[in-house]
Amino acid sequence: MTTIESRPRTATVAAPQTSRRQPPRRVGDAAALVAGVGAGITVAVTIPAIIALSWSAPGALASALGIVTAMLGTYAALLSILLMARLPFLEHEVGQDRLVAWHRTLGPSTLLLIVAHVVLTTWGYAQQVNATWLSELVSLTFDTAWMLPAMAATLIMVGLGVMSWRRIRNRMRYETWHIAHLYFYLAIALAFGHQIESGSVFFDAPFARAWWIGLYAAVAAAVLVFRFGAPIRQSLRHRLTVRSVDRADHDAVHVHFRGHDLDRLHAAGGQWFSFRFGTRRWWWQGHPYSLSAGPTSTSLRITVRDLGDQSGALLSLRPGTPVFIEGPYGAMRMDTRTTDHVVLVAAGVGITPMRALLDELPPGVLADVIYRVSAEPALLVDELRAIEAASRGQVRVQVLAGTRRQWPMTPDLLTQLVPGIANADVYACGPSGFTDSVHAAARQAGVRADACHHELFEF
Ligand SMILES: Cc1cc2nc3c(=O)[nH]c(=O)nc-3n(C[C@H](O)[C@H](O)[C@H](O)COP(=O)(O)OP(=O)(O)OC[C@H]3O[C@@H](n4cnc5c(N)ncnc54)[C@H](O)[C@@H]3O)c2cc1C
Repeated sequence: MTTIESRPRTATVAAPQTSRRQPPRRVGDAAALVAGVGAGITVAVTIPAIIALSWSAPGALASALGIVTAMLGTYAALLSILLMARLPFLEHEVGQDRLVAWHRTLGPSTLLLIVAHVVLTTWGYAQQVNATWLSELVSLTFDTAWMLPAMAATLIMVGLGVMSWRRIRNRMRYETWHIAHLYFYLAIALAFGHQIESGSVFFDAPFARAWWIGLYAAVAAAVLVFRFGAPIRQSLRHRLTVRSVDRADHDAVHVHFRGHDLDRLHAAGGQWFSFRFGTRRWWWQGHPYSLSAGPTSTSLRITVRDLGDQSGALLSLRPGTPVFIEGPYGAMRMDTRTTDHVVLVAAGVGITPMRALLDELPPGVLADVIYRVSAEPALLVDELRAIEAASRGQVRVQVLAGTRRQWPMTPDLLTQLVPGIANADVYACGPSGFTDSVHAAARQAGVRADACHHELFEF
């Protein structure tokens, strides 16, 4: 391990040409506002049904709460689907890692609201007819139209909720978890009939009906268009194939792709695609990989560390293998910077998007690369050194070889490595523990929140 002192730049760099950019638009806040207004309308349409309850009879309060929890729970479920619908605008501005985090935050409340709805509504009816909760549940399920599918939907959601518990999820293969998740769509579809046909909110209420059907239709259309239609169209249009595969080091490979009009993908360094290789074994699995070089109109490149069965199998890909892509995704791009000094901090294979970002460094923008590796020679370090040598001082690369204990990401370390970091944009990529610690250290070192960017290599 070497003791690091901030290395001076090898040559003087011209003063930055570009002025300070405006902070990125507050897309997250705007999305939250729209979602909040939608929740408000969803609660508002329940009011006539709640007023119409016979409040002097037993069970009215439970029934009222049952109605509100049903509507809000389903609204939250539709929202979580929308967050994962690959809406281009949200993917571009917010980034999928944050969208996944929001989706996960919504999950427990959705489940809680749906279960509360089942418990409260059944309890309300049970009080009205003076029956036990369980007998009322059985009678509602089997004697009411559309209730059997709705009950199946609840059971699916509870099952997914249990599977989402971190201890259980960590034991499952990613693919099992992913496929199980698709049942969520089924659950939402199964619940629709009982809402529209049996729900008091929609009885003789044209506005409520239009709002709800419109909401379902919009979410279904978003999923069909952006999760299925757009990637199919894109793959047909660009006809991407594997051009060659070569070793990057002892356990990593570069995969080079060729295709048509790739500039029309509007991909940028720092972004990633989901890649599905057209071989008998792998066609059904999409895996996320970042571009490891700036894209051109005819070629793309990724660099993949062998971390499991699919990543380990890439070396055996044949030239000409067709590739189905989804993307580009990710908000960690050069155009999201707010200053003319970028600090790219990566751990391990998290260096891939940083390497691609360097290909798009505008003139006059300084780049400091901080690369933590367990041992040298590190992945892509020869390319980084070549870029540094050719940059006439615009790019500076510092490699920290050793364990995370030896190189904890602290404000002191970052300031020591990059003295002017408080006025720079900091990009971090790697596993979540790493990006979290870089983010916290950068903030403590004085970096503004809107100048901190990251990409997580795990969902
Ligand atoms: C946005 C993003 C960009 C990435 N870029 C790169 C890169 O440039 N180079 C690189 O080497 N690795 C990258 N990764 C990691 C890479 O996707 C996984 O290492 C790879 O998918 C593992 O698949 P496997 O079948 O080989 O391993 P498995 O043994 O099946 O899985 C190992 C771990 O990888 C994750 N994983 C597996 N499949 C997927 C999937 N389809 N989607 C998301 N995560 C999955 C899971 O956390 C799993 O625990 C990136 C990940 C993300 C989320």
